[in-house]
Amino acid sequence: MSDFDFDLFVIGAGSGGVRASRIASSFGARVAVAEEYRIGGTCVIRGCVPKKLLVYASHFSEDFENAEGYGWSVGETSFDWKKLIATKDKEIDRLNGLYIQTLGNAGVEMIDGRATVEGPNTVRVGEKTYTAGKILVAVGGWPTMPDVPGIEHAITSNEALHLDEQPKRIVVVGGGYIAVEFAGIFSGMGSEVIQLYRGEQILRGFDDDIRVRLAKEMVGKGIDIRLNTNITAIEKTADGVRLTLTDGSTLDVDQVMYATGRAPKTDDLGLESAGVELAPNGAVKVDAYGRTNIESIFAVGDVTDRVQLTPVAIKEGHAFALTEFGNMPTSPEHDAIPTAVFSQPPIGTVGLSEADAKAKYGDIDVFESDFRPMKHTLGGSGERAYTKLIVDKATDKVVGAHMIGLDSAEIIQGIGIAVKAELTKAQFDATVAVHPSSAEEFVLMRTPRNS
Ligand code: NDP
Repeated sequence: MSDFDFDLFVIGAGSGGVRASRIASSFGARVAVAEEYRIGGTCVIRGCVPKKLLVYASHFSEDFENAEGYGWSVGETSFDWKKLIATKDKEIDRLNGLYIQTLGNAGVEMIDGRATVEGPNTVRVGEKTYTAGKILVAVGGWPTMPDVPGIEHAITSNEALHLDEQPKRIVVVGGGYIAVEFAGIFSGMGSEVIQLYRGEQILRGFDDDIRVRLAKEMVGKGIDIRLNTNITAIEKTADGVRLTLTDGSTLDVDQVMYATGRAPKTDDLGLESAGVELAPNGAVKVDAYGRTNIESIFAVGDVTDRVQLTPVAIKEGHAFALTEFGNMPTSPEHDAIPTAVFSQPPIGTVGLSEADAKAKYGDIDVFESDFRPMKHTLGGSGERAYTKLIVDKATDKVVGAHMIGLDSAEIIQGIGIAVKAELTKAQFDATVAVHPSSAEEFVLMRTPRNS
């Protein structure tokens, strides 16, 4: 046994940290994990999970409308924000309890408090100092907001999940995952939503056909998307905030929520004093195995600012534990990562966008299908769905798959396996369709678009 207090000291009990702790412990390592807020981290406590519960909640308004076409008379409906937040919080408490139980069962010591690094093998939490053979930094990220006068009156997704009142009128700033998801949430719950995006089209980096279609659907659902627009000043008013926009106009709303990206949470973590190299934005620089330039210090998840997704952090945490404690060197793969945006309608995507595929492969075929999901025929919703496959002509491999529409998030997981396995378009075509479904479009698209 080593002279250190622990074999592994993990800072941050989020998705990456919890997985690494548990797996390292299963190999017999003596593990401690320090958490300054609540075990579970961003995803469980104030990210993916509560967000998705709110997405479900907000969808009922449309479901009630569409139910009529199926013979239902729904009658008068009302929505109680406070009740939703309370039930959501109860579920988060339950999950938090499960995480604590899992770590406890795994024999991981949980330390309540903010940990800082004091040296290659030393960590401080409050008045106590601990030593460890290895330190894993898994502190995640934190919402960033631009330096706009009055920005202190704005909220982020953190606060949006706990507002006392549902805003009647809200401005959402940004065009990324969080902005489009929350714009959909508030709109579905009946708030008037204005989304401001500084660029030409929301969801930069996604396939252009998907971006345009999402914007159109969101506008169709009543969201006022204003492109090439930003905020220059925020003032507090008696019942909300007054926003001055780049065109000089003003907007009076109950809340303004910024979803303008998340940055690694390495401020005052002591990493520089231990000699750990950080990128200019504070991200911990790591190699393919999560190793920093200091032999005993590692990092996984959002703090490394590679791919800010929970399942990626989990894979990185697992691979770290296998490598360092299981004698199984494993480097997590970061290619062909399927992802979903829980916008309304949702998006599922894996692999390259058409533009990126064209830049990489030159000669590509694009297959697409634009259709009305069967559910909406009787329901009456005008919402459409769209599937798209991008194929490298030279190899026939499917290098990108994209979908917007009902159930896209669920569908893309299976398609993700096929793209990750580098299957060819011929293999997609040879697969029997699941009928009637939206997913079947992925194996039925036969004629390439002129590209
Ligand atoms: P993103 O990086 O996805 O988007 C940030 C948005 O804010 C972009 O549209 C960006 O514009 C805009 N922006 C940045 N700076 C400014 C500024 N100063 N003024 C105005 N607009 C600005 O970040 P999010 O906060 O939406 O999400 C963070 C990450 O969390 C995501 O990248 C994603 O990886 C993860 N996430 C994943 C989810 C999922 O899997 N469903 C859900 C939620 C989050 P521009 O495009 O011009 O840079």
